Amino acid sequence: MEPVDVIVVGAGLAGLRAAQVLEGAGRSVLVLERAPVVGGRLASRTLDGFIVDEGFQLVNPAYPELIATGVGADTDLRRFPGVVRYVDAGRVLTLPGSSGPWRDALAIARSGDGAWLDLARVGVLTLVAALSPVSWIRRRRDEPARRALERWGVSEAFVEAFLQPFLRGALLDDDLETSWRFTQLLLRSFVRGRPGTYPTGVAALPAALAGRLATGTVRLGESVNAIDATTVATTSQIYRAKRVIVATDATSAHELVGVPPVRWRAQTTWWYATPRLADGAVLRLDRQRGFLTSTLDVSAVAPERARPGRSLVAAATNGIAGSGDEPGVREDVARIYDLGVSDVELVTTTVVAQALAHTPAPLSLSRPSTWGDVVLAGDYLQTPSIQGALVSGRRAAEAVLTAFV
Ligand SMILES: Cc1cc2nc3c(=O)[nH]c(=O)nc-3n(C[C@H](O)[C@H](O)[C@H](O)COP(=O)(O)OP(=O)(O)OC[C@H]3O[C@@H](n4cnc5c(N)ncnc54)[C@H](O)[C@@H]3O)c2cc1C
Repeated sequence: MEPVDVIVVGAGLAGLRAAQVLEGAGRSVLVLERAPVVGGRLASRTLDGFIVDEGFQLVNPAYPELIATGVGADTDLRRFPGVVRYVDAGRVLTLPGSSGPWRDALAIARSGDGAWLDLARVGVLTLVAALSPVSWIRRRRDEPARRALERWGVSEAFVEAFLQPFLRGALLDDDLETSWRFTQLLLRSFVRGRPGTYPTGVAALPAALAGRLATGTVRLGESVNAIDATTVATTSQIYRAKRVIVATDATSAHELVGVPPVRWRAQTTWWYATPRLADGAVLRLDRQRGFLTSTLDVSAVAPERARPGRSLVAAATNGIAGSGDEPGVREDVARIYDLGVSDVELVTTTVVAQALAHTPAPLSLSRPSTWGDVVLAGDYLQTPSIQGALVSGRRAAEAVLTAFV
């Protein structure tokens, strides 16, 4: 094959974004992906008339790098209303940024679970995260999220009752050990945009990004097993390029080019079919048993994802759950949605052992994207998120373009 300017290994969001930026700069690019589809961890599949994602994932349209890709125009993101319900108490807390937060905030302050002061402090720290420039968040001292909340003076009772039930599902972290820097960036995106999903599942996002690349740029089913500065070997071929970007997940990058290994956080999600739900678009957090991190009717905004007359509920927990946990989860889902247990049918279970890399403090957001002779991309270099993966891809492309000059 004729050598191309750049070979990108991996067609997750990081690799696709790198290819988009490089092609935009007039370079020829070949993306080699071992899976039969693009998208990496953003994957969806159809089962018996239901479209499930590989894990509980939401797309935040306020991610700056997602906006920069321009794919918003090619996709049909259906946003959730941004409402969280704590199920044991039946109260509704509207996330900042959506309508009517004050009445709900008052209800929480009066609830006895949290004090006025706690609520005020959380309001201030959320506003600080939302309004501060990212450069300021990056420069500030980093520490574990739980310690930062303590420093802000938020009582442990309030953290346990209101913050932790929400954050543990977003960070896949039961102990709030995650970097406060990353937590602030996450809070910032929740304030600035309401997350959503697509009628064909979250895989629509990488598919749209791949759709913006030149025909033939992506080669699927190509598993790369050796890389050097200008050569990439797959099980069937040897490819040559002027530069190589390794845009795999952290574990594959460790195996391919020896970057330091990461520790992973896992997630298990049960997907249930139920009778059509009335207010399914509300994110429900179960404080009664506390096993599930989040439950959401994804079909509330995307009815195409369920069979006619049915709802598709995702119910997630952190870690790798056993098959023996399912009957208890079905009972939880029935209670949370006020249904009979026989109304709740399991569609499938998705277990993602390598979902998000651990992000302990201090979290560096400016890790170098070069490693020996190759350039790296991947969410593990930034933050374990759609935004982090896309930024890492753009940075890798910029590093390659600088080297070309
Ligand atoms: C369960 C779950 C829930 C999540 N929830 C959210 C959320 O709500 N919001 C959010 O912003 N983010 C969320 N994320 C994180 C987000 O999905 C990831 O940060 C992002 O998709 C990572 O993209 P990436 O390109 O860095 O890596 P990946 O998606 O892992 O892509 C790497 C690609 O490299 C390929 N590859 C690996 N080795 C080779 C090889 N040897 N040869 C060829 N190809 C190779 C892989 O097949 C893969 O396609 C979630 C992730 C998971 C798993």
